[in-house]
Amino acid sequence: MKSKIWLSSPHMGGNELKYVKEAFDSNWVAPLGPNVDGFEQDLEIFLSEDVKIAALSAGTAALHLALIECNVSHGDEVICQSMTFSASANPIVYLGANPVFIDSEKDTWNMCPVALQEAIEDRMAKGKKPKAIIVVNLYGMPAKMDEILSIANKYDIPLIEDGAESLGSKYKGKACGTFGRFGILSFNGNKIITTSGGGALVCHTDEDKEKTVFLSTQARDNAPHYQHSEIGYNYRMSNISAGVGRGQMEVLDDRIEGRRKMHDFYCEICKNIEGVKVFSEPNSDFYSNHWLSVITIDETKTSKSYEDLRLAFLSENIESRPIWKPMHLQPIFEDAPYYGGKVAEDLFGKSLCLPSGSNLSEDDKKRIAKVMVEVFSNKKEYSVLS
Ligand SMILES: *Cc1c(COP(=O)(O)O)cnc(C)c1O
Repeated sequence: MKSKIWLSSPHMGGNELKYVKEAFDSNWVAPLGPNVDGFEQDLEIFLSEDVKIAALSAGTAALHLALIECNVSHGDEVICQSMTFSASANPIVYLGANPVFIDSEKDTWNMCPVALQEAIEDRMAKGKKPKAIIVVNLYGMPAKMDEILSIANKYDIPLIEDGAESLGSKYKGKACGTFGRFGILSFNGNKIITTSGGGALVCHTDEDKEKTVFLSTQARDNAPHYQHSEIGYNYRMSNISAGVGRGQMEVLDDRIEGRRKMHDFYCEICKNIEGVKVFSEPNSDFYSNHWLSVITIDETKTSKSYEDLRLAFLSENIESRPIWKPMHLQPIFEDAPYYGGKVAEDLFGKSLCLPSGSNLSEDDKKRIAKVMVEVFSNKKEYSVLS
C-alpha cells in the first residue's frame, strides 16, 4: 500500500520542542506560563491592528466565550453562515439560543450580504432582533467584509468573525480575524498551524481580553477564597500547547506560502480540464491563505462527479473530502430558520477539498496529478474500450 496522503496534516517547524522543553525545565506545566504569554504576543504582532489575544483550549471555546461576551443567552437568536463546520454553530446551542442560517454568495462562498439583510429585517418583523452575527472565512477565503460589516453596523448587531481557517488571509490588506467585535482562531491539528489542539479569541480592548481570561479560568472573583459571581469555564490554553504554537509562529509565513503554492499547483492541473475550476480569489481585495484547495466540477462537461474523483483518490490512498455540508441541511438543525437560495446547496453537490498540506512532497504531487488527469481524461474507460 502506498503511503497515505492526507488532506491537511501537521507540519512542524523545528523549534516547537525547544519551547516545550523550556516549559518542562521551568516546571510551567499548567494552563498559564511564559509560552502562553509569548504565543499571545506573537499572534498580536502577526495580526497587528492593535488586537489583544486570549489563548484558549479550542476555537470552539473561543466562539462560546465570544457569544457570552455579546450577551447571548437562552431564547436569543444568532445569525450564522450556513456553509461551515458545525463548530461555528454549536456554541449558539450551548447557550440555549437559536441559530438562523444564511446562504452563501458565489464569489467567496461565504455569507451572502443580501440574504443577511433580509434575515435581519424578517427576524425583527417577527419580534426578535438577532443578538450576534457569525461570519466565516471558508477555506481561508475572506468574506465580503465591507458589505457584511456595514449591515451589522446599520442594525447595531455585533459581528463575530470565525477565522478558524483564515489565519494569514487578508481583506483589503487587513488581517482576517480582526474585523468583528471578536474574531476566533483555531490551532487544531488540521489547521494551517497547530498547537495539537487550541484556539484563541481576538479582542480589541484590554477589558475584553481580561474578561475572556477571567471566564476561561473558572470566573474566580478577586478574593483569597474561591468566590464566584458568574459561571466560569475551564478554557485556557496549556503552556505546553502554547510552546508548540510559538514554534509554529516562526514558520507561519512559510506555511501560508506553501498552501498558496498548492492552490497554484491545482490551477496548473485544472487549466486544461474543461468543467473543473479551482476555488480562487474573486479579485485583488481578497487574499486567501488557501488553507484547503477546493475544486468545483461541472458534471455536464466532465461526466464525472466529485464522488468519482474522491473514490479514485481513495483507491490510491489519497484523502479528499466533500466541502462542509450546509448547516440548514443537517438533521440536527432542520427546524432552524434559513434565508437565501440554493448557492450553498449547489456548491455542496459539486465540490471537493483536495490534499492541501504545506508538507506534500514532489512525489505526493505526482501521485495526485496522475489521479486527476486519469479521472478527467477518461483514460481508464478508454483503455477498456480500446
Ligand atoms: C476548526 C474550525 C472550528 C473549531 O475550531 P476547534 O479549534 O477545532 O475547536 C470552528 N470553525 C471553523 C470554520 C473551523 O474550521
